[in-house]
Amino acid sequence: MTIYISGHSFNYEMENVARMFTGDVVVKNGRPEPDEQGDYAFLYKNDNCEACALGCVVCWKGMSAEKAQAVSPKATDKENELALAVLFYDAMCTLTGIRPPWGVITGIRPAKFAGKMLLEAQPQEVEARLVEKYRVSPNKARLCVMTAQKSAQIASLNTEKSYSLYVSIPFCPTRCSYCSFVSKSVERDRQLVEPYLDKLIEELACSGKIAEELGLKLETVYIGGGTPTVLSAPQLERLCEAVAKYFPLDSAREFSVEAGRPDTIDEDKLRVLRDAGVSRLSINPQTANPRVLDAIGRRHSAQDIEHSYALARRLGFDNINADLIAGLPLDDLSSFAHSLDWILGMRPENITVHALTLKRASNLTEEKQSGGADAAAMVDHAFERLTQQGYAPYYMYKQKGTVDSLENTGYALPGRDCLYNVYIMDELHTIIACGAGAVTKLKNQKTGLIKRIFNYKYPKEYIEGFEEILARRKGIAEFYHEV
Ligand code: SF4
Repeated sequence: MTIYISGHSFNYEMENVARMFTGDVVVKNGRPEPDEQGDYAFLYKNDNCEACALGCVVCWKGMSAEKAQAVSPKATDKENELALAVLFYDAMCTLTGIRPPWGVITGIRPAKFAGKMLLEAQPQEVEARLVEKYRVSPNKARLCVMTAQKSAQIASLNTEKSYSLYVSIPFCPTRCSYCSFVSKSVERDRQLVEPYLDKLIEELACSGKIAEELGLKLETVYIGGGTPTVLSAPQLERLCEAVAKYFPLDSAREFSVEAGRPDTIDEDKLRVLRDAGVSRLSINPQTANPRVLDAIGRRHSAQDIEHSYALARRLGFDNINADLIAGLPLDDLSSFAHSLDWILGMRPENITVHALTLKRASNLTEEKQSGGADAAAMVDHAFERLTQQGYAPYYMYKQKGTVDSLENTGYALPGRDCLYNVYIMDELHTIIACGAGAVTKLKNQKTGLIKRIFNYKYPKEYIEGFEEILARRKGIAEFYHEV
């Protein structure tokens, strides 16, 4: 579809609206030719015509729709942008018969948006406003407000000196077909793991010293990846000892480790993590359907997950997260519902429901396989079922390229929310991130200013360019001294 922009500069937002309906979007300034062919939208702001100051003419598959409205001369650009987005969205819904559930909220953090509205309105009013003004579906509006309320409670724990630590282990046993993460398969890069760990521990030492000198307060630790449990038990022990040596774990509220795939979990490794004080584990089934597991390249069964889960419980882990993905190839609503009930049978404290995202680097995109059908129905089902079962949504985000523009949502039993997820998603405080692919996000809590420090993406680059990685660490102290 070609979008013609005239009399305004809302190009980005209009493109985002169009992308909810079609992946093929070209944006041009100007107006269509009188004999324009194909799918197009003419989105205009006309300052010389009071009766039709904002409007759109949309042609789609041989049909057309026109919408226009007058706006007050006092209306701000933001108000005009929203009004035009709604006109365009409504026209596209009429022509395509599709109704994207997030309406014209195209940003990645809808709950943060709702959180701001909750500062000045009651939850019911915010829900109604999301539905009426932003065309959000009633279900999503409820999800959004519930999440924003939970996030606000967690945000209240935050102090001016708070920070969290993220540690990246960018290796996996093999690569899952839907994954676009920079993770390396250890089958191919095993020789990099030890030198990587050496450098990572140096970076932890340097970062811990800087945080201590700045008087920062550690809130949470998150070791993610990749699959951190791809490390051997002695390697995990070395890593955890380094974290404990260079960071004040006693003051931390939470220590999470992604144990991801059951083919990387054994009793020795879980004992190491437990003895190191890890308080939350992620063991991620993604689905219980063996055909789907096979289609996405995961070499484990639902029974392997049950075994890992039981092992973790026996060793005393009392906070476990299970990830589930909606929209996987070969999956359907009834198989997804079965997977969810199977997970509920294990009663994990956290269940995170992701909508499949097809990013450019993933094998699924490369192989041009489509994601499964019914993803929207699956995430709606998860919301209903999990809230009935005593779980509440506590963090949520959208990613570009998600099937049906859907959201990823973390649900938790009361009091078991993963604080780190909220801190990073709502950008509440500094995240000091170490390792390949890690991005340190420094936050000035008074002004809201955020600065990022990027590490090299891949383990080999990280090892070879480590002097530069250490040099960039100086940016942490500089940021706080400039404040
Ligand atoms: S385990 Fe996770 S990070 Fe690793 S390849 Fe699979 S989806 Fe990607």
